[in-house]
Amino acid sequence: MTLRLRMILGIGTILFVVILAYALIAVRSQTSYLQSLARHEAELIATVAERALARAMERGETETVQAILTRIGQYAVLAGIRIVDPDGKILRSNRPEEIGRVLSAEEMPRRLMPGPVWDHREQTVGIFRPVLNGPSCTGCHSPAQSTLGFLSVRVLLPAIHSEGSRQWVSLMLAAVASLVAAGALIAAFFTLVIGRRIDALSHTISRVEAGDFAARVPQDSSDELGRLGRSFNAMVARLADARRQLEDRHADEMRRAQTLASLGQMVAGIAHEINNPIAGMQNCVRTLLRGPRDEAQRSQYLEMLREGLERIGQTVRHLLNFARESKPQKVETDLTPLLTRCLTLLEHDTAERRISISLRLEPDLPRLWADPHQLEQVFLNILMNALEAMPGGGTLTVEAGRWRRETGQFLEVRVTDTGGGIPPQDLPRIFDPFFTTKEVGKGTGLGLSVSYGIVRAHAGSIDVDTKVGRGTVVTVALPLNGG
Ligand code: ADP
Ligand code: MG
Repeated sequence: MTLRLRMILGIGTILFVVILAYALIAVRSQTSYLQSLARHEAELIATVAERALARAMERGETETVQAILTRIGQYAVLAGIRIVDPDGKILRSNRPEEIGRVLSAEEMPRRLMPGPVWDHREQTVGIFRPVLNGPSCTGCHSPAQSTLGFLSVRVLLPAIHSEGSRQWVSLMLAAVASLVAAGALIAAFFTLVIGRRIDALSHTISRVEAGDFAARVPQDSSDELGRLGRSFNAMVARLADARRQLEDRHADEMRRAQTLASLGQMVAGIAHEINNPIAGMQNCVRTLLRGPRDEAQRSQYLEMLREGLERIGQTVRHLLNFARESKPQKVETDLTPLLTRCLTLLEHDTAERRISISLRLEPDLPRLWADPHQLEQVFLNILMNALEAMPGGGTLTVEAGRWRRETGQFLEVRVTDTGGGIPPQDLPRIFDPFFTTKEVGKGTGLGLSVSYGIVRAHAGSIDVDTKVGRGTVVTVALPLNGG
């Protein structure tokens, strides 16, 4: 059952009970008013009859007494008028046939509390007036009797019932009409005022239930529903907050887990990198220990030992370089010779991979205030990544030029390769320390993260634009105004 229907039924029932009670009270009081009116009429008739009869009775004119009773008896509302003796025997009546009958106890007034006699079966009210003995009566009656009898007048109560039921009908009609009107009013009120707001509330609740934490109840009033909406909104805001915190923590944990995984990979790489030369060196040492050979062989083994130590030393230097994020030692730096030197260092690799190089440097590049050794490290890392992305050959383009941005003048170096590109799922992680997609021993995952740190220390930025299967553009921007 809907709330609306329940409200209509509830209020309807209350209205119905109230109207019914009101109708009962109204009909009651109406009835007693009509009854008192009938009794009054009976008293009036009795008074009139008393006066008329008194004289005829004093004179002993029994014919006249009967005639008066018959005359009054013709009055429409009169049920009967009679004279009875103290024992209830009818002496005279407007209806002569009942003369001589003795009245039953119910038909007589109670002695202690003389009052009207109600006869609800016949719908009459009767009153009894005592006929007292007096000096004029002693002609016919003994003076010993104080009360000679009673004058009884009974009046019909015809109007009461039909009047009452007419009232009932109109009251019930009014009740039904007001019930229908109240129902319609409540329904309209509910739909227009409350229903729409409750609908909005439940709509918002189901949106939140479906996970939309941006949903809010419109706040347009300060009543109970308004307050409910406000606390609901506050609750949703807190919920959204808690969820955001949870998501942040989850992302943090994921990042930490990934870093740990990369760290494991890197450690494996370093172990490999150190273990390989050690195996060769152990061989050399064993051979040398077996005794002196000819000089040429000896120096060959010693040279192999030197190479092995050199390789290990290099690996350890790499590691130290990463661990020690040194402060840049800034001097006036010209990028043109720096970039040329980097490419010269990589000449061997490019030739081996059949990679063609295109170098397009803007003439008269302004000098930068920067640490040339650190910048060399940055460009070497980026260039090596580009080369490693093109194992089957391709084109490496290096461009440099001035660039004006909102934040000032910049020098941009752009390294473009025609390699495999970076898959979207890897892109957010390439600057993470130890993130590498290269096989163990080949990549340390430190190149870009170290480069990023250096460029940030120069107040610059690194951007990566890549398309899988087409290639990658890495842009380094360095501020010209000192950084
Ligand atoms: P490493 O080169 O040791 O793997 P880097 O930090 O230099 O570590 O690079 C991280 C990862 O970013 C690489 O493993 C590679 O997957 C990706 N990457 C970087 N530059 C390029 C590029 N030019 N083309 C394709 N992938 C690249
Ligand atoms: Mg690299």
